[in-house]
Amino acid sequence: MSYFIDVILPIPIQKTFTYSITEDEANFLQKGMRVAVSFGKTKMYTGLVFNIHQTAPTLYEAKEIHQILDEAPLVNEKQLKHWQWISSYYMCSLGDVFRASLPSAFLLESETVITINELEVDQSILLDDEFLIYEALQHQSQLTIHQVAAILGKKKVMPIVNGLLQKSAISVQEEIYEQYKPKLIKYVRLHANYATDASLETLLESLSRAKKQREAVLSFFHLSANKKPIKAKDIESQANVSSTILKSLVDKNIFEFYHIQIDRISFNGATNDLKQLNQFQEIALKEIKEAFTTKDVTLLHGITSSGKTEVYTKLIQDVLDAGKQVLFLLPEIALTTQIITRLQVYFGNQISVFHSKYSMNERVEVWKNVLENKSKAGIILGARSALFLPFSNLGLIVVDEEHETSYKQFEPSPRYNARDAAIVLAKLHDAKILLGSATPSLESYFNATQNKYGLVALNRRHGNVQLPKIELIDVKEKQRKKEMKGHFSDRMLFLIQEALDAKEQVILFQNRRGYSPVVECKTCGVSPECPNCDVTLTYHKFKHELRCHYCNYQRAMPNSCGACGSNTLDTKGFGTEQIEMELKVLFPDFKIGRMDLDTTRGKHGYQKIIGAFETKEIDVLVGTQMLSKGLDFENVSLVGILNADTMLNFPDFRAHERAYQMMVQVSGRAGRSKKQGNVAIQTYNPNHQILQQVSTTNYAEMYKEQLQERWQYKYPPYYRLIKITLKHRDYNKVDKGIDWLARALQQSFGEFVLGPTAPAVSRIRNQYIKNLVIKIPPKQSLANTKNQITKIRNTFEAVSDFRPIRFIIDVDAY
Ligand code: ADP
Ligand code: ZN
Ligand code: ZN
Repeated sequence: MSYFIDVILPIPIQKTFTYSITEDEANFLQKGMRVAVSFGKTKMYTGLVFNIHQTAPTLYEAKEIHQILDEAPLVNEKQLKHWQWISSYYMCSLGDVFRASLPSAFLLESETVITINELEVDQSILLDDEFLIYEALQHQSQLTIHQVAAILGKKKVMPIVNGLLQKSAISVQEEIYEQYKPKLIKYVRLHANYATDASLETLLESLSRAKKQREAVLSFFHLSANKKPIKAKDIESQANVSSTILKSLVDKNIFEFYHIQIDRISFNGATNDLKQLNQFQEIALKEIKEAFTTKDVTLLHGITSSGKTEVYTKLIQDVLDAGKQVLFLLPEIALTTQIITRLQVYFGNQISVFHSKYSMNERVEVWKNVLENKSKAGIILGARSALFLPFSNLGLIVVDEEHETSYKQFEPSPRYNARDAAIVLAKLHDAKILLGSATPSLESYFNATQNKYGLVALNRRHGNVQLPKIELIDVKEKQRKKEMKGHFSDRMLFLIQEALDAKEQVILFQNRRGYSPVVECKTCGVSPECPNCDVTLTYHKFKHELRCHYCNYQRAMPNSCGACGSNTLDTKGFGTEQIEMELKVLFPDFKIGRMDLDTTRGKHGYQKIIGAFETKEIDVLVGTQMLSKGLDFENVSLVGILNADTMLNFPDFRAHERAYQMMVQVSGRAGRSKKQGNVAIQTYNPNHQILQQVSTTNYAEMYKEQLQERWQYKYPPYYRLIKITLKHRDYNKVDKGIDWLARALQQSFGEFVLGPTAPAVSRIRNQYIKNLVIKIPPKQSLANTKNQITKIRNTFEAVSDFRPIRFIIDVDAY
């Protein structure tokens, strides 16, 4: 009898691959375990068992696997089902989803590097081959798996590497990523020789001449009074002895060392009880629970500062009490340290945070805790990728700020929307899912009004604080009357001064970073452009350089025009940096801070600025849309938006919806705790319907109008969109490819193919870009449409001229 497994490989190929296994292996293996397999001539990958069966592949001879890497599944069946949905819905390979899901430390390959372990090892237990490699590593600090094979003159060396790993002689390290090493703490216990009291006396006597050692032993007894494991470090500090003293006691068979693995991400226990809900929150909570009796998805439309988070906490508590897991999704975790802290206060060490900026180690740890359903992983807080953790028992998913674009992954594949994928995940677990926002996305609100989702509104700010007063300032008028100072109207300056005089804080929103987005020669009109991208460079004054915001190219600001040689380079438009500098001149007695991509690099970049603003070290904070994301500062009384027009004029069918969301969200940062706040919006176009709707926070009207436009111009939520992008260094190739593709698609979908078009920035990093969009009418089968697109894609890729072109497919590309 022969046995086979189908394996998912972490590569973008549609199929799974079949390998042969022995009967013993077949009895041992389960779906979701990892195996090391070779693929192609030299490559070796970590694959995932997807199926176990007895059917040999017909097109190729199945290779044997190298080795089984897990003793129990690392990925569960619910995840595998979820992966299949993602792969079919977003038209990507299972391998793409596999790679996106697992922390890379779980995905070792032939290029993986091994190093010797710092802890000492008993060499006598090493087998011959193992010893050879161990010795080689004494001379050479690291080896790849390939080099191990060369040293031993063998092909299948994974078992040997694994043997060394199991004996803790080596560590495995992926070249690109940091390998997981559990953090070990060294503990001390008494050797078995000294189990009785009588033997202890002799022990102390025997040490009467070794003073230091005696001190250490006495400290040990002292510390053992509270019956907890004793850390080597604690003895060292209490007895004031060095680690060599402890080592000599171990050598004398008096002490023994042992190690306990600790998880490095640990919070303290909860410190506060949940807050008592106000009457409106109480009602909302009741309505949500009612909605959940008949619907799996509910949308909580709660205005800014209505206390949605407090409502979430009650639902979370119920689910934890029922012994189930909670997933709390946030748009961008780095920006939401405030929410993390708030939840920690309530739920303490039941929370784990899954953070893309955390090290590999930390992520592996969270993965294992979720897999083992540990109580510290009761609530997982994370950005979109937290969706892929090995939940077995989800009871609730909260998607906070569900309208946020950062839930959508654009690059690389899988190009999923985490909110939508979370809805499917909840279904797989029979869990409930709550979407929360003050400015819901059109599609979620549409689903709610269609009765697909429950809908609950929360229309009062906590403490009955009024929503801020919003005024529109006509910049054209102000310029005519000469009432502008730099980029500020006199009215805006008055409001800022008023707030600062009252010791309140100000947030100023400008959606462009840098000093000015365009540099232009006054003589010839030419602007310096990026050599790699089809875009003009942005001037950053502080470093006196020009930068590309697409590829990060940078160069010093030239003194003269590269085209005509005149010294007439001038800057146009303005970004956060320019605003910050103007403010420093206008308000020299106050502290001005800036929050944008340039000031928030690094793991704690955001926290520093947010922290400084919270503790009032900064009076005025200038920033980009980062400021719109759920921050809660109690002392902000004024929010200023310096140029509303760039948002409104963006060429995208969602521009108006987005502009509304962004402006209402930043406005929502004003006057949250005590008195009503102020919002001032500078614009050239104060009669624009979106600005009117923002100024009255009229979501209903915005929704109605936008929805009508979507219907009229055939856009979501009525029509679905699939976008195809081709990229290549050779413009002609892309151009020919996209024409071929457009014609082929038009034969199937006729007028519902839009394009081809070049995007606003049509070349990035020297790759030319062309797009096509396919619109799918409400009644047309999604599955059939995708099948047809896949067929056309396969034909396209069979044309040898087109094969080198990058083909990107993006479902719900918005
Ligand atoms: P949202 O997420 O809806 O914008 P938050 O949950 O951030 O609102 O709440 C706004 C502020 O009001 C927070 O500082 C929060 O602590 C406070 N708050 C909300 N509800 C309550 C409550 N029931 N009791 C005490 N404070 C509350
Ligand atoms: Zn010039
Ligand atoms: Zn560039």
